[in-house]
Amino acid sequence: MLVLLRPGTPEPTAHDVITRLRMAGLAVFRTDHEGRARIAAIGDLSALDWKDVESWPGVESASKLGRPFKLASRAFHPQDTIISVGRASIGSDQLVIMAGPCSIEGEAQAFTIAESVAKSGATVLRGGAYKPRTSPYAFQGLGEEGLKIMRRAADAHGLAVVSEVMDTAQVPLLSRYADILQIGARNMQNYSLLHAVGHTEKPIMLKRGLSSTIEEWLMSAEHIMAQGNLQVMLCERGIRTFETYTRNTLDLNAVPVVKELSHLPVIVDPSHGVGIRDKVAPMARASVAAGADGLIIEVHHDPDHALSDGPQSLYPDQFEELVGQIRTIASVVGRRV
Ligand code: PEP
Ligand code: MN
Repeated sequence: MLVLLRPGTPEPTAHDVITRLRMAGLAVFRTDHEGRARIAAIGDLSALDWKDVESWPGVESASKLGRPFKLASRAFHPQDTIISVGRASIGSDQLVIMAGPCSIEGEAQAFTIAESVAKSGATVLRGGAYKPRTSPYAFQGLGEEGLKIMRRAADAHGLAVVSEVMDTAQVPLLSRYADILQIGARNMQNYSLLHAVGHTEKPIMLKRGLSSTIEEWLMSAEHIMAQGNLQVMLCERGIRTFETYTRNTLDLNAVPVVKELSHLPVIVDPSHGVGIRDKVAPMARASVAAGADGLIIEVHHDPDHALSDGPQSLYPDQFEELVGQIRTIASVVGRRV
């Protein structure tokens, strides 16, 4: 249920409304928009008489939050959510660029790449320390040592850190080193993991599942938000289709569709979306034109020897050229890098 209070409702009256909804056993979330409190009351609404709620002091209307996702919806929160992390203001008019290797491989690699992506205009360093690999024989990541290296490399170059958390037991560790916790595509519907990160105060980047619909993706965001963590950004990283000439099919339709349905920032990952180095830049440019709030791009100074995803990693000079192009496109769609 969405309860709108009248503009200028005194705080004690607003408080009373929230208390009465809580007494009815509902979870209550509030946002303020254009001078008016908007209250989402979630749970079993059968005991509540809607007309009665509309008669409470301060209440202007009580209506159904029609979509299955409630807190993630624009109906609850009309204005764009902005998530501040270091120098990045994700969801604002700043087009946020996150870049770095697929995996953190060592001190020299992480520092070399962090330095170059920072110089080119990235504000967030990406890199995996715990890697979800298709093969159990492939490089699985450096673990905590990788997180320590990544933190140092990011700090040395004024970057924030985004890194994947693969299971609930890793949440405290990742929270210690990373500024943004990444939920990988394969874990998009790992509800215990979503609940665990929903109990942190860290911004979450929720990647779209390999075969997930937009609604399933937004429902996973809802799982995180329902635990109290409203700082969620969504990441389109390509979906499984019948196409075999690209690694995945980057669903850029999702960008304007999600931006209408939800207030959450949308990041695009063209690296995993297309999976082929020389196709990453065109898809990155298209993502910005489509209205993405940010990009996450794999960059490696020696991709032929990368321990994961070398074939889709940009060389630093390619990344620098791409950021230059993105600056131009961003200005056309009312954004800046
Ligand atoms: C990654 O970002 O390196 C990664 C494994 O992404 P995804 O979960 O989208 O496959
Ligand atoms: Mn990767």
